[in-house]
Amino acid sequence: MNIQNYINGQYENPSSNEWINNYCPANGEVYGQIPNSSNEDVENAYIAAKSAFPSWSQTTLEERSRILIKISELLETNLQRFAEAESIDNGKPISLAKSIDIPRAASNFRFFGNAITQFASESHESVGQDAINYTLRQPIGVVGCISPWNLPLYLFTWKIAPAIAAGNCVVAKPSEVTPMTAYLLSEILKEAGLPKGVLNIVHGLGTIAGQAIIEHPDIKAISFTGGTETGAHIAKIAAPMFKKLSLELGGKNPNIIFSDCDYNVMLDTTIRSSFANQGQICLCGSRIFVEASIYNKFKTDFVEKVKQLKIGHPSEKTTNIGALVSKSHLEKVLDYIEIAKEENGKILYGGNKVKVEGYENGYYLEPTIIEVESDECRVNQEEIFGPVVTIMPFNTEDEVLQMANKVKYGLSATLWTNDLKRTMRISNQLQTGIVWVNTWMMRDLRTPFGGIKASGVGREGGFEALRFFTEAKNVCIKY
Ligand code: NAD
Repeated sequence: MNIQNYINGQYENPSSNEWINNYCPANGEVYGQIPNSSNEDVENAYIAAKSAFPSWSQTTLEERSRILIKISELLETNLQRFAEAESIDNGKPISLAKSIDIPRAASNFRFFGNAITQFASESHESVGQDAINYTLRQPIGVVGCISPWNLPLYLFTWKIAPAIAAGNCVVAKPSEVTPMTAYLLSEILKEAGLPKGVLNIVHGLGTIAGQAIIEHPDIKAISFTGGTETGAHIAKIAAPMFKKLSLELGGKNPNIIFSDCDYNVMLDTTIRSSFANQGQICLCGSRIFVEASIYNKFKTDFVEKVKQLKIGHPSEKTTNIGALVSKSHLEKVLDYIEIAKEENGKILYGGNKVKVEGYENGYYLEPTIIEVESDECRVNQEEIFGPVVTIMPFNTEDEVLQMANKVKYGLSATLWTNDLKRTMRISNQLQTGIVWVNTWMMRDLRTPFGGIKASGVGREGGFEALRFFTEAKNVCIKY
């Protein structure tokens, strides 16, 4: 199936008429083509967004809210179709797309459709000076939203929904690796009555179409989720142009397990936090640290449970582990498994490609557990972003805290313990933007979401996102 750009409410071919192959990870075959958009397409999208802005920014909050909630409802009505498309495009199990990705995309629109009606500005009475200040929160204008391939529609809408709720018009680019659900979304935008030009979706390569968005002098804010290197590149371009930047980048998240935890809940959750979406979630806990007293028991039980995970075609209901997103990504993950071996890592389970019958060219890999000798080895320091975790024991709280923090990343951490004081001590000292205690990836969309260190700049979620997508203007009146 070929897809097109969505600009000014119309489907458009790329102006260059150049196309990129779109691969199905489950069988390695090309199943469609996507536009290889250029500067000209981004410029057209910008012009459409710019001309929609005066009217959209003056549209009442009730009306914006109504349209966003309508988009959410239409996504729910089309759940099956979207989930199938996401699973085919990304390789993720259909069960995951149906229970997480698409419902969450719908929630993003519903949440920000509601949030914008509750978003208040502040006033400050300057007592003794006969003056009052009030702060306007005005939309920025045309903003750029760029998203990755791992949670395609989920992360695309996490940016777009607050951007348009706040009254901006958008030039958005989904990942070229997984463009399909962003394309399908454009059909829903029409049906929900979103005026033309408010959201323009340009498909294509990061280095061409993405680059054109970040370089555009009049696209005043960039909300980006993706790799740390790309984030650094974007910051370099955007900073001298004084663009507002929100960067959600890579991670290498610790999963810290103490012997006093609820063991079975921890074990089941650790299976998910290690291998959900083939480990391709920025929040996955890829470094598992286990208190020495339960280390051997954990090792045995964890391997036993991982053996039971079913690797299979993403469309099968019983599949736990689908295909990795692309051939090049599969190769990158396999390279890291070789690096682990060179570093004396012991493969406790997995490590090999898998041939799924009938789909021999698909990008399947066994869930892989590597016991490492040192937390400083490369597989413990660098983001692999696949179904690969490392495990090692620790003896004291201080020791594990040091290891947890000794990486360049700082996105999230998971902590398993029933000791309240320890929970407080460790949570306070973890160098991450998010800490989960006795759970993983439990989300409340009102909370600030994002990382520190090389995991990013800024926070998404709740009013934080609405603040990012607006400029504060203070008005001081003397009376
Ligand atoms: P990526 O950085 O390669 O690409 C992300 C997006 O940026 C894509 O749409 C791509 O086309 C675009 N892009 C690439 N080069 C560009 C350029 N020069 N200018 C503008 N846009 C450009 O990342 P990826 O491989 O798609 O995604 C995986 C990465 O995303 C991992 O590092 C993962 O940790 C991270 N991630 C982070 C979060 C988070 O919330 N922190 C969430 C999901 C994924």
